[in-house]
Amino acid sequence: LMKTSVTVIGLGPMGATMARTFLAAGHSTTVWNRTAAKAAPLVQDGATLAPTAADAVAASELVVVSQTDYRAMYDSLGGADLKGRVIVNLSSGSPDELRRAGEWASEQGGDMVTGGVMVPPPGIGQPGAYVFYSGPEAVIERHRKTLEVLGDVTFVGTDRGLSMLYYQAQLYLFWSTLTAYMHAIALLGSAGVSARQFFPFAATTVRELAEDGPMGFLKEMAEAIDADVHPGDDHSLRMQAVGADHIVAAAREAGIDTAGPQALRDLFWRAVDAGHGAEDLSSVIGVIRAPAP
Ligand code: NDP
Repeated sequence: LMKTSVTVIGLGPMGATMARTFLAAGHSTTVWNRTAAKAAPLVQDGATLAPTAADAVAASELVVVSQTDYRAMYDSLGGADLKGRVIVNLSSGSPDELRRAGEWASEQGGDMVTGGVMVPPPGIGQPGAYVFYSGPEAVIERHRKTLEVLGDVTFVGTDRGLSMLYYQAQLYLFWSTLTAYMHAIALLGSAGVSARQFFPFAATTVRELAEDGPMGFLKEMAEAIDADVHPGDDHSLRMQAVGADHIVAAAREAGIDTAGPQALRDLFWRAVDAGHGAEDLSSVIGVIRAPAP
């Protein structure tokens, strides 16, 4: 059985790995990149280099785009005929940019699927890899088998902004957790404790947050927020806001950056000032959702 042919536009670390992964899975693969030289190793592996982006789009119904941003897509595909094409854009952008891209593709007679890839280049096509997709579900289902070459196909909704919202929600969680980890390391480092010494304690906290148990706040908070019930019996927000003040003071005493702890402290106190002092930490969601002007 012939495997679907695929076009990959954009051969940065991500796109080049995607093209290589499609080739390895036996898909006839056409590539295009603004800087054509980056295609050379892929051509060695059997890819076809299209002379223009329009030719690359003409070569396959399924066109996977991986570039720096959505601006790059308009720059590249501006003159291409999208009729009958499925553009799967896996580049980063704002959710509204993705929604507008969907309208743009429709105007050109094409289908736009958006996606957020949840692994770095070496993870593409490997076990555990997954990609959030949003857009027309039937179109995504029709190409599921081919897209699964890159990682699990996780459909999150027809609103094309959703794939990026999931991606950004995950990225924010990832970056802020690791940045808080670095603040914690710097805080202890000021008293001579190495990062390696702190690691097992940090690992326990991060693991237990996700598990059921007294520290299982990930699930507990989801339930509290969805139900909008925030009883602060054992640990009031006011108590925690005072504790956050102490972390700012500790950061200042340690001579490390105070901006991160200060932002956290400010958020807590804004929620206390809004009347949530006797409630739980989850009541902070109110000032996150509706910041005071
Ligand atoms: P980059 O974000 O650096 O993208 C490089 C690609 O974009 C190159 O092919 C480059 O072409 C092309 N490009 C940029 N601007 C233009 C333009 N105006 N016109 C035409 N082509 C343009 O590298 P990555 O491959 O790392 O990332 C691709 C996307 O994937 C990004 O949106 C990124 O956020 C996302 N992503 C990246 C991850 C990672 O770990 N790297 C993980 C998950 C998502 P040229 O070669 O000619 O410069």
